[in-house]
Amino acid sequence: MRNKGALMLFLLVFLGYSGSPLQAQRKARKKTELIEVKEAKEIAVSPKLVVGIVVDQMRYDYLTRFWGHYGEGGFKRMVNDGFNFKNNHFNYAPTYTGPGHASVYTGTTPAIHGVIGNDWYDKYDDKSVYCASDDSYSSVGTASSAGEMSPHRMLSTTMTDQLRLHTQMQGKVIAVAIKDRGAVLPGGHSANAAYWFKGGNEGNWITSTYYMDELPKWVKDFNDKRSVDTYKRTWSTLKDINTYVESGTDNNNYEGLWKGKTTATFPYDLEALWDDNDQYSMLASTPFGNNLTTDFALAALENESLGEDNVTDFLAISYSSPDYVGHKWGVNSKEVQDTYIRLDQDLERLFKSLDKKVGAGEYTVFLTADHAAVHVPAYLKDQKIPANYIDQADIKSKLNDYLKFTFGSTEIIKNISNDQIFLDHKVVKNLEMDLADLQNEIAQELMLYEGVYKVYTANQMWQNNYTKGISNILQNGYNQKRSGDIIIVYNPASISYSSTGSTHGSPWIYDTHSPLLFFGKGIKKGSTTNRSEIPDIAPTISALLGMAFPSGTTGKPLVEVLE
Ligand SMILES: [Zn+2]
Repeated sequence: MRNKGALMLFLLVFLGYSGSPLQAQRKARKKTELIEVKEAKEIAVSPKLVVGIVVDQMRYDYLTRFWGHYGEGGFKRMVNDGFNFKNNHFNYAPTYTGPGHASVYTGTTPAIHGVIGNDWYDKYDDKSVYCASDDSYSSVGTASSAGEMSPHRMLSTTMTDQLRLHTQMQGKVIAVAIKDRGAVLPGGHSANAAYWFKGGNEGNWITSTYYMDELPKWVKDFNDKRSVDTYKRTWSTLKDINTYVESGTDNNNYEGLWKGKTTATFPYDLEALWDDNDQYSMLASTPFGNNLTTDFALAALENESLGEDNVTDFLAISYSSPDYVGHKWGVNSKEVQDTYIRLDQDLERLFKSLDKKVGAGEYTVFLTADHAAVHVPAYLKDQKIPANYIDQADIKSKLNDYLKFTFGSTEIIKNISNDQIFLDHKVVKNLEMDLADLQNEIAQELMLYEGVYKVYTANQMWQNNYTKGISNILQNGYNQKRSGDIIIVYNPASISYSSTGSTHGSPWIYDTHSPLLFFGKGIKKGSTTNRSEIPDIAPTISALLGMAFPSGTTGKPLVEVLE
């Protein structure tokens, strides 16, 4: 752009000399001023609305495997009219929901934003804590404790915080998800509102006094309307199940069961299974959870006047249900396939409403995941592919036997969680042991156990700067104040989980490879197989909007996508 301007200026000055020199100078100055004003306007893009979409547990291959079943207005519209990063990864472990949402929105990893798990052992308070819980706030919209949430454990700002700061708090930020952490973390510290879904016998959208003392009228009306009850129905496949050739058989041994149903097969009569499966909470484990989330997001769009003026607003939507469905039935199930085919319709409905309400080309969307997931190891084993199940209780008891035999104490291990071991530093001190030496001895012992691929100590994380591979991924997830003394990596596709359904959390590529799509205002069309990483999203959106990056940003703007 600068070169083009200079060339035009040169041409104007050159041509201008056919008239009087003064006239030419004046003409040139005027034109230069115009160019400067135009350039000043174009150094940032101001969509009326940014929509951030996180699809929980979405693997990249769900785009390609189910491509033939998708309509033109959902995933395909984003890929065909937007930009597709085909080689996008989480660059840290553990790969869980809390760290995922925090990393997407803060542009950094647990090492910096501090959300090291969904739950973790807090060594200072000597108790397990939940990433979004905060009992200094109360629930709004429920008598239960489900609303006692805030983002206080997330230590850096989010792109949504930066938007608030950049617009003098004029740009609105609303975050929506079935899971509390899927709304609270994306909303950041300064969101106007974050809403999540209370299941059980309630079926309402709720929030925390962190945001407001009372639900707005439109949320109360939405809850009172009971449109949620229309989803208490039978779940059958959207299309003929025989056309779902991209997934495994409907009836197999790798899928979890609803209580009250003896096979994991369609159709699922939700009304009949309702009371045995925690009522409204059931919806979260079906594609109806995505329908419900879209309904509520569209109500927010309408009632909060998002994208109506020239100050950019932000709507953060996280689809929690695909994670529940993946956990229950596994990544190769017909249930997962149907969930994505139906989610595609939700996306089309969302984009059509945005076209109508905000205007096509006036909003910018990104879509990614909070982590991916592993194939069901039991299925892999049956295909002769290396995979296994890890018995963590067995590892703990073996390790305790070793510690008792070697050091005469069973009190050394304080907690094991998220594949990390937390030692009791007081006990270690009382036994007059050197902490680094003890970490090292335990690491050596663990390496003898079956299924353990690698072990790192906190001391190694403190002393080294890993720049590549698994060690780098672990270090990006290692927070010096919050993480444990020993970090264990199991063999690929070796998980501590039931023999049905999929899970995630490892540094392996099946847990890190997730979609990243950009679409709409300021976004180039295209695709790349160059590697991109989750922390690149927040600086990319920040660069697009011309605003300051989140405070802990370690990612970099993805230049391929920006016009
Ligand atoms: Zn999960």
